[in-house]
Order: sequence, then C-alpha cells, then structure tokens
Amino acid sequence: MRPSICVIGSANIDLTFRTPRFPQGGETLTGHSLHQGMGGKGANQAVAAARLGADVTFVACVGNDAFGTEAIRQYQADGINTDYTRQDNDNPTGTAAIVVDDQAENCIIVIPGANASLSAADVRKAAKAIERADAVVCQLETPLDATLEAFRIGRAAGKLTVLTPAPVVPLPDELLELCDVCVPNRTEIEVLAGRAVNSHDDAHAAAKVLIARGVKSVALTMGGGGAYVVDGSEAVHIPAVNVDAVDTTGAGDAFAAALAVSLCEGRSLRESAHRASVVAALTVTRIGTHAAFPRRTEVDKVGQ
Ligand code: ATP
Repeated sequence: MRPSICVIGSANIDLTFRTPRFPQGGETLTGHSLHQGMGGKGANQAVAAARLGADVTFVACVGNDAFGTEAIRQYQADGINTDYTRQDNDNPTGTAAIVVDDQAENCIIVIPGANASLSAADVRKAAKAIERADAVVCQLETPLDATLEAFRIGRAAGKLTVLTPAPVVPLPDELLELCDVCVPNRTEIEVLAGRAVNSHDDAHAAAKVLIARGVKSVALTMGGGGAYVVDGSEAVHIPAVNVDAVDTTGAGDAFAAALAVSLCEGRSLRESAHRASVVAALTVTRIGTHAAFPRRTEVDKVGQ
C-alpha cells in the first residue's frame, strides 16, 4: 500500500552566491557564480517522501511571484499534491541568500516571507487531506499555531504525527503531547530537554525527558554518529551508513521523511530508523538538497 503523507511546513528558494570573499560594508563585489535551489524544511521533507513513493500533500505558503510559481511547478514535477500550497499576494516566497567564499565559509540571510503567513486557517482548509493521510509531518519554520492545528486534526483522526523541532524554540506541552515521533538533532534535543548530550547515556536521558513531557518516541539524529531511537520499550543506537559525505545539507530532512514513510509502511521504529539512515546516507553523498534525495528503487537496492 502506498503511504499517504501530509507535510505542513516551509517552502524556500535558496540562492547561493559564490564569491572569492565576503564583501565589506558599502563594497560591490563581483562573485564567481549563482545557483538557484529549492529549500525550506517542509518542502525538503515533502520532496524526500515523494521520491520514496509516498502520496504527498504539501500544505504551505509561497508568494504570488515567479519563485512561488516555480516552486509549485517543481513540487508537482515530483508528483506532490499542491492543492493546499497557497500563493500569498502580500508576501514574497521565502528566500535564503547564501554567500559562500573560497574558504567554503558561508553567511546566510533568510527572509521567511510567505512562510510566516501560513495559518491555522490554512491548515483547517486542508483538514480532509490530513484526515485521509497516514501521517502528518511538521517542522518549526512556519508559525506554531499552524503546526499545533495540524497535529490536533491529525491526532483526532488517529494519524501518526512526526515533528522535526527545527529551528528549535521552547515548545508548549500540548504540541509534545500530540507528537508521536520527535526527530531532533543533538542541538535541538539539548534545548528541548535542557541537558547536554555527549554520550549515548546522555542521549537516552534527554530522550526520556521528551517522553516524560508527552512525546511517544524520539529519533535523535547525530550526523555521522548515526541516530538513537527511544520509545517506551527500547533504546537503540543506529550507526550511520559508512559513505564518503560530500554535502550533508538536508540529511536530517531526508531522515525524518524516510522515517515517516517507513513507519506508515508498517515497519517498526528500529527498522524504520535503519531505512532512514540509508536514505540520509545516500543524500549526503551528493551535492544539493532536492537534487540529492534518493528514489525508492535506489534505497531498496542498498537495503537488499
Ligand atoms: P541538516 O540540518 O543538515 O538537515 P541535521 O542536523 O538535521 O542535518 P544530522 O544529525 O546531521 O541531521 O543527520 C541526519 C542523519 O543523516 C544522521 O542520523 C545519519 O543517519 C545521516 N548522516 C548525516 N551525516 C552523515 C555522514 N557523514 N555519513 C553518513 N550518514 C550521515
């Protein structure tokens, strides 16, 4: 059965400017190149899930501008249902300007733009899509009340709720109580649990803090250190797949999307985290974000 996933979250255009060095105040600098890519954690997770064969609906807000129209066209090219991807007349499409110098240092300016206008009312309009889905997948780059509304509708309909708590902010207890699977990275769990994570014991203790606050299970990602999954019955370390990583951008989003898809396909949390780490490992072997997300056939081949 093809899993059905409703992703509620951000959609950005990433503009990467390569320059010899960063400009000084008041200076005009000629750069090497410009690359236009797709980003936003919501869009990343929607595209990653669609590549894995899920039937994806993306609830989001982009501008009524060329970037917004292009973003929707690209989501549709991945087979994503964009009926609830609204084009806002008052705000531009979320845009990240990323400047990378010859030393590979970067500095980034993000304009949330239309992402900030995604509302609980937008989510309520998509209630039927949420109720039809197997899982509701959210992050925190769009307003918290929209995320809360999505999880309320999802939980009331008995759907799996998956949260990537990034960018991390202190979260209300209600959101954690509505969360079936929380997928933080190390920095995020340290903020949410209020304790440092330097070992597997620390990871276990921090995950237990989230579980005590109402989350059912935690899949903590630790970059090349793999992942650590904890639920009421077990705590397991899932080592990262050994690959030559060239660009880790989007690894966490690939992992969260793959975990959600796999859980909807009926695998256990442990099996799903193994599969998610294969998907994330394939992602880090390629440059870019959407361009790097693997297709299901490729993942199945590695998994054999
Ligand atoms: P991002 O913000 O770049 O999306 P993140 O901090 O949310 O990343 P990470 O913890 O860095 O997420 O990575 C997510 C998962 O990706 C890891 O749990 C691991 O399975 C996989 N991964 C990350 N880096 C590597 C690597 N160097 N080699 C193999 N797998 C990796």
